[in-house]
Amino acid sequence: MNSQPVKGTHDLIGLEAAKARMIEEVFRGMAELYGFKEARLPILEYTEVFARGTGESSDIVRKEMYTFLDKGERSVTMRPEFTAGLMRAIVSNKLYATEDLPLKLYYVGPAFRYERPQLGRYRQFNQFGIEAVGLDKAEADAEAILLALQAFAMLGFERLRLKVNTLGDAESRAAYRDALRAFFSERIDDMCADCHERLRLNPMRILDCKVEADQEIAKGAPRIKDYLSAASESRFYKTLSILNDFGVEYEIDENLVRGLDYYSEIVFEVHATSKDGTDYGALCGGGHYSGLIEQFGGPDLPGVGFAIGVERIAALMEKEGLFDELEDRLDVYVMPIGEEALEDAFAITTQIRCLGYSAETPFAAQKLGTLFKKATRRNARFALIVGEEELAKGVAQLKNLATAEQKEIKLASLEEELDAVLGEEEEHHCHCGEGECHCHEEE
Ligand code: ATP
Ligand code: MG
Repeated sequence: MNSQPVKGTHDLIGLEAAKARMIEEVFRGMAELYGFKEARLPILEYTEVFARGTGESSDIVRKEMYTFLDKGERSVTMRPEFTAGLMRAIVSNKLYATEDLPLKLYYVGPAFRYERPQLGRYRQFNQFGIEAVGLDKAEADAEAILLALQAFAMLGFERLRLKVNTLGDAESRAAYRDALRAFFSERIDDMCADCHERLRLNPMRILDCKVEADQEIAKGAPRIKDYLSAASESRFYKTLSILNDFGVEYEIDENLVRGLDYYSEIVFEVHATSKDGTDYGALCGGGHYSGLIEQFGGPDLPGVGFAIGVERIAALMEKEGLFDELEDRLDVYVMPIGEEALEDAFAITTQIRCLGYSAETPFAAQKLGTLFKKATRRNARFALIVGEEELAKGVAQLKNLATAEQKEIKLASLEEELDAVLGEEEEHHCHCGEGECHCHEEE
């Protein structure tokens, strides 16, 4: 039998899983700080949730979806992204009517795209993202960007590039599309097969083509800024001025159009290149959208959101040494000395766990040397040596495995003893991303 995972999928085990979880938890925590609530959504949706009647023309929908007929002959798709499913859920649950607006939701979980696997591109990967729905303001757009950047800063990133662009409102985009169609129609013979399709369905998508020769041609294309309505232009500059106020650096990238058709007004991506020059592409992509909820039969509510690629961020963090402090540690390795001590060692291990410290014990009597080797391999902080004679006296030896200091402790005061060496000091978590705030210092 084939023991390989499906092409483009990965097993994340132990520390690898912890890395992904760390990224997800930092973003989750940041989203909660900004007042977002979690939405847990189905992986499977009816295909029309993604391939909507209006003819979504993105590569994702045209080529990358895992779509199949279930046993009831219904066409279902494993989500390639979360936004469409979340909009469907907002309508299914009538959240627009029962909740205050803006509705602020975040999500995390696997997404599936049938892409050619390569660095930072998988068929099953994890996304975290946020959506703020029902408040059409430059401030809301800026807030989404600030949230993303603050989370990246918390993860330890220093050299990220924020790219922004505006796609304008419907009126701006219609004018721009006509201009692009006219421009590319004359040059399409030299462009890739996908671009032929894009020209027909949504010429803006050509700007997003990753074929180098096509990118070269696209450099001469009309620019969106010449087709923006006054309202879209002032909205874009309002958001940029908020970013300026917060000292956020950005670059305007007029070729940034994003992978899905529902975007309008501001769009953004966070890009990164590692110290050795490897380009990790977009770590995060998002923007403002409109018309999406309406397509599911809800009211016409706009929204803004972004999604991050957990694996891409993890790969870059690895390269940049940002996981160096992430360790798989055990608080206490309980060592039974002799058969007679096994039962008590098990009971003490359970007691330690009830106190909130991680603990393990072998279920067989072993030599002290073997036990210490195991404790080291397990990366334990302390060993608790439990011998038959000492048990009779109600004591055990607690050994700090880093310093080799050893102390006899009374089992009756196990809690106090462990708290003294393992208990956490009141921790202060700095969320400002600067790492030097003084709010925790006593006045
Ligand atoms: P790209 O332009 O790199 O194909 P995208 O525009 O298709 O990205 P989005 O739909 O915006 O990507 O998804 C949000 C984030 O998810 C991306 O910024 C990226 O970090 C990540 N991502 C997208 N596709 C994949 C994939 N196949 N494997 C791993 N991560 C991915
Ligand atoms: Mg893509």
